[in-house]
Amino acid sequence: MNGSKWMIKESLEKNAQCSFLWGGEPVRLTNHMVEKVGHYSIYVSSSKINDGVVGLGGLLMDAGNNNVMSWCSSRDFILSLVGATLLAVRLALVKVVHFKWANISIHLDAKEIVHKLSNKSIFGVANMTIAEDIFLMNILIVLEPFCDAGIVYGESACGAASAYLSKILIKGGTVVNAHHQEVADVYIEDGIIVAVQNDIMVGDDVRIIDATGKYVMPGGIDPHTHLAMEFMGTETIDDFFSGQAAALAGGTTMHIDFVIPANGSLSAGYEAYVKKAEKSAMDYGFHMAITKWDETVSREMEVMVKDKGINSFKFFLAYKGSLMINDDLLLEGFKKCKSLGALAMVHAENGDAVFEGQKRMIELGITGPEGHALSRPPVLEGEATGRAIRLAGFVNTPLYVVHVMSIDAMEEIAKARKSGQKVIGEPVVSGLVLDDSALWDPDFQTAAKFVMSPPIRAPGHGKALQAALSTGILQLVGTDHCTFNSTQKALGIGDFRKIPNGVNGLEERMHLVWDTMVVSGQISVTDFVRVTSTEWFRKIMYFVLQGKVEVTISGGKVVWENDELKAVPSSGKYIEMPPYNYLFDGIGKTDAEYLSSLRAPVKRAVHTV
Ligand SMILES: [Zn+2]
Ligand SMILES: [Zn+2]
Repeated sequence: MNGSKWMIKESLEKNAQCSFLWGGEPVRLTNHMVEKVGHYSIYVSSSKINDGVVGLGGLLMDAGNNNVMSWCSSRDFILSLVGATLLAVRLALVKVVHFKWANISIHLDAKEIVHKLSNKSIFGVANMTIAEDIFLMNILIVLEPFCDAGIVYGESACGAASAYLSKILIKGGTVVNAHHQEVADVYIEDGIIVAVQNDIMVGDDVRIIDATGKYVMPGGIDPHTHLAMEFMGTETIDDFFSGQAAALAGGTTMHIDFVIPANGSLSAGYEAYVKKAEKSAMDYGFHMAITKWDETVSREMEVMVKDKGINSFKFFLAYKGSLMINDDLLLEGFKKCKSLGALAMVHAENGDAVFEGQKRMIELGITGPEGHALSRPPVLEGEATGRAIRLAGFVNTPLYVVHVMSIDAMEEIAKARKSGQKVIGEPVVSGLVLDDSALWDPDFQTAAKFVMSPPIRAPGHGKALQAALSTGILQLVGTDHCTFNSTQKALGIGDFRKIPNGVNGLEERMHLVWDTMVVSGQISVTDFVRVTSTEWFRKIMYFVLQGKVEVTISGGKVVWENDELKAVPSSGKYIEMPPYNYLFDGIGKTDAEYLSSLRAPVKRAVHTV
């Protein structure tokens, strides 16, 4: 035990400045934070002393030796308590009820924990008394290592759900899908919706959830995430479990992540992501990034579409020197996508011009996070978006523009759609609800949290994107969830080019779109379902009227309720996506029209000279 205590102190000194990435003001924190080290992921919610919320904290422990690896909080003094608490919880697992650290004696309600442990692999609420102050804290601990090792507590079978959970009746809610809404009961059995109708009668073995006065709607689908992605010399802090746990707590029950090829190899990249996703707690799919072009890549794209269920490929027009491809490769990629019935996607910024803009900022001595936004203005996003759209039009293949962040890019999409071109525009929640003011914050950490690409724009762009979403110019909302903690963001102190790009949103997206778009009257509840999910009704959840997720049901099980998260590692499922989606309807006809419009080749008499 001495070892553990000592590590706490050392970590406190080393990482006292560290705070969670998720502290960005406009982002609503619901319940938990996520981090991971080794096998351990530990979640800590907001903490209260008396009635004041005093901060957020978290701590990581190594699976092998219980050493505290790192921790973060908005208040250092809370950190010490959080650290002590988590150690106490850890000790409670081996039936130690009292724990003494730093001269504070903590009594832990071990009974509560044992109870929670007996039927779940994730749990926990602990009420503690510290001296005279009542200290309330919710703690969620993921017991993956114990499951991995086959160690079972009580009747727990590491995530095996009881039969009770497999039959659910959601009673009296307003059932909403992308087209209409009605008051009805929803009956789910073994993960499948069996009936949606009035007054369904069920037996005692069915769990009934009263949804009177609430909306019952499909779980969210986030079309754009990066979990466990290696990028800019580091790896995103959310992996396939912690990111998905966050998603489930926010009402999102499926996401689509981007496979990054390994040294240009699609199959090696795919294998690596299959491994990363082994711990998944919810359904997921894959897009794939294309980062170079040759015969092997072309052949492997075919394998991905036909054998692996990947039908969308992303091309980066930015990140010169790493992910960026130039126009001839983009054209090859578009042609290949078209021949496979796969959707081409673009990260649209002019990478050469961004490189120039970065040089300009460094020469001007602008090295902080504001330089990030200044080096890649909206015009460069507009240019690349317009270029990609025109080239996709030239090849006659559908195009999906990811993270539309500016008016400039949005207007290119509007123009193309008006002309009948098949272009999908995806705003992300950070672009819809935030502006760039935080990048000028005098505190580096605060500013660096908001660094992503394309950058969050000046005030005005977000409102315009909201309007475009409400009028159908933009179609669905992603997040580009790509989280780095403050220690990682600090890689860019003194040079904004080295700040790992990315913000969070996987947990917050549903709430923020609800608050920003539905509560403000810009879109209807059915529109909400359309832009955050689809008409799919296999996975459902329900909301209170204010849009706060009250219960999340995923795969037919309640996974988030009463501040309790029951995400189970390895319970998620890979969803294959077939090629030739509806966007390809009519492509053959326009190709034929094009060919007949050529009036060529002109038949000419053969002249001999
Ligand atoms: Zn991107
Ligand atoms: Zn992305």
